[in-house]
Amino acid sequence: MQLHFHNSLTRRKDAFTPIDPDHVRLYVCGPTVYDLAHLGNARPVVVFDVLSRLLRRVYPRVTYARNITDVDDKINARARESGEPIGAITARTTADFHADMAALNALPPDVEPRATQYIPQMVGMCQRLISRGHAYAEQGHVLFSVGSFPEYGSLSGRSPDELLAGARVEVAPYKHDAGDFVLWKPSDAETPGWDSPWGRGRPGWHIECSAMSEDILGPEFDIHGGGHDLIFPHHENELAQSCCANNTKRMANYWVHNGMLLVDGEKMSKSLGNFLTVRDILGRGAWAGEAFRLLLLRTHYRSALDYSVAALEECKAELDDFYAMLARQAPEARPHLGMVNWALEPLGDDLNTPLALARLRDLRTLENVANVGGSAAAVHARTPFPWVPEPGEARAAVLEVAKVLGLLWHDPAEWRQGGSSDDAAQIEAAIAARQAARVAKNWAEADRIRGELTAMGVVLEDTGGVTTWRRG
Ligand SMILES: [Zn+2]
Repeated sequence: MQLHFHNSLTRRKDAFTPIDPDHVRLYVCGPTVYDLAHLGNARPVVVFDVLSRLLRRVYPRVTYARNITDVDDKINARARESGEPIGAITARTTADFHADMAALNALPPDVEPRATQYIPQMVGMCQRLISRGHAYAEQGHVLFSVGSFPEYGSLSGRSPDELLAGARVEVAPYKHDAGDFVLWKPSDAETPGWDSPWGRGRPGWHIECSAMSEDILGPEFDIHGGGHDLIFPHHENELAQSCCANNTKRMANYWVHNGMLLVDGEKMSKSLGNFLTVRDILGRGAWAGEAFRLLLLRTHYRSALDYSVAALEECKAELDDFYAMLARQAPEARPHLGMVNWALEPLGDDLNTPLALARLRDLRTLENVANVGGSAAAVHARTPFPWVPEPGEARAAVLEVAKVLGLLWHDPAEWRQGGSSDDAAQIEAAIAARQAARVAKNWAEADRIRGELTAMGVVLEDTGGVTTWRRG
């Protein structure tokens, strides 16, 4: 399968050719751990989770590194406001992040470097940049000399004037040029710091990713990912640092960026009152993590994505349809390989998850027709499968494709019962009581219990002497 990705560096869709086809290397910027992950933080995690699952299907070995930024001025500010020690804030927030991303079925990356464990590499990179004439030390700071790198701006496509206008440029006495950015800065007694040739200090955010990615993946690797908002200045600066420190051309050959996430059509912000954390979504029920993942994948990753409660509920209904199909008894069957490849094919075309999902729906229809009858004429007309498959065949194909998308990981029976909830035991007891009434031919009592369950939103299905239930 030949993969293609839109490359921010070339501004076009490029065929993907790994540096080493036996070992694909991917780096994605991870969270700064000072607060719960918000919806915008989840989007790159899920997008690059699908990308890494796809790479693993195509290539024999993949190393996916995603960092934890655990030294940053936002963390320091949070500690000052709350009085909580920095180490406690970063440990708790990292654990929360792991739990939330696991609830979205995002697999952990292969390597998850923490910035505080790579300080010697950051200091070493600053020293190399100084010795090569790309950086200078001034008043306890180390700054990157933007004028020393003529390609600066090539990733974001900005001219030097636009770069100055776009950056929050501080005019500071230690800067030789207004566009120069900080690699290392001094720390006072209250701020975390490490000894360095320039005194006690701490790294700037950009140098953290350059040093960690180089240490783990090498000076040049295949794919660098992150949100679109990171292109400038973060990725532009990473690229400049890494290329100048190593005398290389590109740092990463493919720069892949996801679009922004809106809430009810507006940019999410605390002042607008539409700020939502992943945890807010997960609190809606056991179904919410998967529904939110589907919501993230049904829009192409480069487009702006609009979150709303209505959209989340649509995704739940969509998953209900898939789980209804999966809950039905079907013979064990091998996945139809042609169907699997057909549904996965769009992912190779710049991760076209909306089209892959549309094809997954068609496979679901084929399975339903194979099992319970009905018309597949529309599906036959638009797919290369103008026949009704053996029962179980399309179902197995759906599950195989869903693994790459990271969907349909719940037990179908539990899904239909709304997850393990507090009243499940009560419902099971009522069903047992109804069953006993039926055995005793006490039809009035059996109907009364059924009515009670219906009022609770529980739908009973009696098939072959067995009663199953789901929430209607
Ligand atoms: Zn980064």
